[in-house]
Amino acid sequence: MLFTELNLSAPILKAVSEEGYTTPTPVQAQAIPFILDGRDMLAGAQTGTGKTAGFTLPMLEILSRNHHTKGPRHVRVLILTPTRELAAQVGESVKTYGKYLPFKSTVIFGGVGIQPQITTLRNGVDILIATPGRLLDHVSQGTVDLRHVEMLILDEADRMLDMGFVKDIRRVIAILPQKRQNLLFSATYSDEIKKLCESILRNPAVVEVARRNTSSELVTQRVILVDCARKSALFGHLVKENKWEQVLVFTRTKHQANKLSEYLQKIGIASAAIHGNKSQAARTKALSDFKEGKVKILVATDIAARGLDIDQLPHVVNLELPNIAEDYVHRIGRTGRAGNEGEAISLVCVDEYDYLKGIEKLINRKLDRDIVAGFEPDPDIPAMPIVQGRGGGGGRGNSQRPQGAKPQGAKPQGSRREPQKRDGSSHRSEGRSNDSRRGR
Ligand code: AMP
Repeated sequence: MLFTELNLSAPILKAVSEEGYTTPTPVQAQAIPFILDGRDMLAGAQTGTGKTAGFTLPMLEILSRNHHTKGPRHVRVLILTPTRELAAQVGESVKTYGKYLPFKSTVIFGGVGIQPQITTLRNGVDILIATPGRLLDHVSQGTVDLRHVEMLILDEADRMLDMGFVKDIRRVIAILPQKRQNLLFSATYSDEIKKLCESILRNPAVVEVARRNTSSELVTQRVILVDCARKSALFGHLVKENKWEQVLVFTRTKHQANKLSEYLQKIGIASAAIHGNKSQAARTKALSDFKEGKVKILVATDIAARGLDIDQLPHVVNLELPNIAEDYVHRIGRTGRAGNEGEAISLVCVDEYDYLKGIEKLINRKLDRDIVAGFEPDPDIPAMPIVQGRGGGGGRGNSQRPQGAKPQGAKPQGSRREPQKRDGSSHRSEGRSNDSRRGR
């Protein structure tokens, strides 16, 4: 199938072809006809599947079919995303695919000044992309008018629920016009998502694309066993030895992300860290420096990395395994995207063996274990529990054994669920406990 067969008008097709795309991805091929038909939709698709264009292209098409040149602009499409980064990326896509159309779009999220957003909204926009918290700030100040919304798109709805935005979402929906088209994108289909769908979607078309990466042949997955305290050194060694030019590295905690980034700088490898404690400006800069190749290594926590659109990433490294097996799938989804081969390497120490088992169970596959000469794990080091918590001890290497703790398998310790900031960032530790996923 070609994009030209999808009933999209010339200005949209031109923008798509300028991006170099001729063939729609599976989620695009399935979703676009339903959306153009005006149907509500539930789409099970995660980042990397082309979902953003999957909703952006038909949304732009629908807007242009009912476009009135006279009268003031109103917000006709509202797109909600869980994080600032994702909002910014969706905003970019809307601008890219809509560049030959007369619509105005803007992105609003917290962590930056509200006044310029107020001015932009006052001047009129057709498409508003927002994180829920900041949007509600505008609602309560009366600086956004949502009475003309024709289409609501919830992107990464599961992550919005994870981040505690369900009430905010419901508050937003309560002030939207009853008659509107609703699209909900979610990588997972938990009971919570089901409930949200039932209350929002009317007779939805259901589009499901195979979860990538669970069996993706494009991603080579490998485990390297190493002592916890030597992971940073091993990582530096791998970067130099293999002459890696662009690597996204994951840590469980903000603290560890900073620590690794500082270590890499010290040994002469340009790197940057992104996580919830960084200002928006710092995160945007780190991401663009990474994309432009100014920094080779981007160190990220799961929440900060969620939704990042980084093309053709050759390497993803887990400096630390996530305590939630599903996050492993999200992490390695950053590599081997859109037809390119990629490599995902996990540095695993004795504390993390239980996490590794959980991941292998989820992906239904045993991963090869390697050892790098000079970094052989010491068999006498016993496993220590991984302590999740604010400030991000995240286990050995950064913290001491908790007093009285017996060496044991790496059972995840429950972290407290802490209150959420309303702008898409989180106050809690970015290394979530398994508890936060219970009931999904
Ligand atoms: P997304 O799932 O929306 O984050 O998109 C993942 C990546 O796929 C982005 O870098 C897009 O630019 C790219 N992409 C989107 N549509 C296509 C397409 N039809 N063919 C190839 N790549 C695409």
